[in-house]
Parts: sequence; structure tokens; C-alpha cells
Amino acid sequence: MTQIISEINVIRETVKNWKQQGKTIGFVPTMGALHKGHESLMLKARSECDIVVVSIFVNPIQFAPNEDFDKYPRQLEADRQICENNGVDFVFAPTPQIMYSEGQENITKVVSPEIFQDKLCGKSRIGHFNGVATVVLKLFNIVQPDKAYFGQKDAQQLFIIKKMVRDLDVPVEIIGCPIIREESGLALSSRNTYLSEEQKIKALTLSKVLKKIESDYKAGNTNAKEILENAADILDNDACLEYLEALDTFSMGKTEILKCDTLIAIAAKIGTVRLIDNIIL
Ligand code: AMP
Repeated sequence: MTQIISEINVIRETVKNWKQQGKTIGFVPTMGALHKGHESLMLKARSECDIVVVSIFVNPIQFAPNEDFDKYPRQLEADRQICENNGVDFVFAPTPQIMYSEGQENITKVVSPEIFQDKLCGKSRIGHFNGVATVVLKLFNIVQPDKAYFGQKDAQQLFIIKKMVRDLDVPVEIIGCPIIREESGLALSSRNTYLSEEQKIKALTLSKVLKKIESDYKAGNTNAKEILENAADILDNDACLEYLEALDTFSMGKTEILKCDTLIAIAAKIGTVRLIDNIIL
């Protein structure tokens, strides 16, 4: 049975014991409300590591006061069962009090370079990526994994975590994993549970925009401005577009000419639900 551990010293001791036996540790950080996207990360970790640890922690310091921290779906026992079904050895599920025992206000934070955190989602979610980088570094220090698995779904987050690990010499290998989608094309997200059936159909237009861009690019057009403006028309009229951008995957700089490896990222609100998606050409 997959055990839930909430205390930092207990998960540390547990992992230490396995490491002393020469076992490799794979780690999947999540905020819970687990779906097939999360499961794909667990399965990848399961296939590459001896022991798999999943963390479930809705991290208060990455939410702005006007965001959905309070209503974010929490379903620990159902999540534990999903972890068990995917061969996860331990779930680390601390409380905010355990993670931020000296309070959230005056803790030391990881600050990502502005050029990476101030674009895409960072424009509307001020300080979000510093909250993410801080909790991920804390989790790495607690779990001390050999490999950690992140979804390409959160492309900017993946970029920022990889950069943090390089810059701060954190001894962990970061593995990026592909986006898992519903058959319809909608990227799986814990926030999809906020959507009504009608809103889900509208939400589908995000992935349709990306598909259109991909097919235009494959047809030989490489003019980013033209292709993106054209594709944006597909977005449902009730969706509020926050950004649709083409970026260089390696530098996160905006690109005018689409090429292999260009990241196309979109964010839009359907009602009050903010959704993101992306593709790499
Ligand atoms: P979250 O619980 O939303 O913080 O996500 C935890 C991890 O799961 C992150 O690395 C996400 O990028 C990843 N993830 C979320 N949705 C998907 C998806 N549809 N496909 C693949 N990975 C995902």
C-alpha cells in the first residue's frame, strides 16, 4: 500500500534508507487532483527509477491573493489510490504549516531571472514562478531525488526549473515529459474540473489554435505574426485570450520566424477558468 508521509524528517529518513541500499529515487512534484497527465510522469519515473516519490502540495506561495488557492481541488485519499495504481512507493503530502514552519511572509525565496519569469504566464501571475522555484527547491532538498519529472504542459515552469538546477548546481536530473490530452485534444489539467460541459467545448479551441498553427507551419509558412494572428481567430468568442506567442525553446526569446523546436504557447480564460497549452513545432 502506498503510504502518505507528511513530516519532512520522516520522508528524509525513508529516502535515506533506500539510498543507502543503492536505490535510485524518482520524484514527481504535483499539487494533487491527479489525472492521466500526472500518471504519465509517475509511469516514466517508475520505468527509470527504483523508488518513486510523488509530492502532493498545493503551494500557497505560488498563488496570488485573487487566485484559486482556496478552491483548488483537494482529494488526498483518491490521489493516494491513483499513486498506488501507478506503482508509486511514497506520497509526500505536507501541510503549509510543515513546509513553511516559520510563516510564509519572510521566507528565503528563489528568484528566477526576470527575462524568464516576466513573460507568458509571469505577466499576469506576478511572483508565481518565484513561488514555484522556491517550493521545488525545498522539495528537492527534502526528497533528494536522482531524477525529477515535469510536464511540458507547464513549459515556462519546466524551463525555469531546469535553469534553476543548472545555476544553483542542484544534484538532480530534470526530465521533461510530453503533454497528455483528452481524445478531443484538450490538454489534461486539474483546473478542467472547474469547467462545465459547455465550457469544455469552448476550452477545446485552445488546442485547435495550436493545431492550426502547426498545420500552417507544416504547409511551409514560417511568418510567426501572420500565422498566429490567423489562428487566434479560431478561439471561441467567449474565450478571453491572454497570450499567444512563438518563442525559442532554448532562450525563451520571442521569435518572428517559426522553425523546428519553436514553442507556441497560449493562455486564455473561459469564464473565470484560466487555461494554458502549448506545442513545440
Ligand atoms: P500540477 O499538479 O498542475 O502542479 O502539475 C504537476 C506536474 O504535472 C507538472 O510537472 C505539470 O507540468 C504536469 N502536468 C500537468 N498536466 C499535464 C498534462 N496534461 N500532461 C503532462 N504533464 C502534465
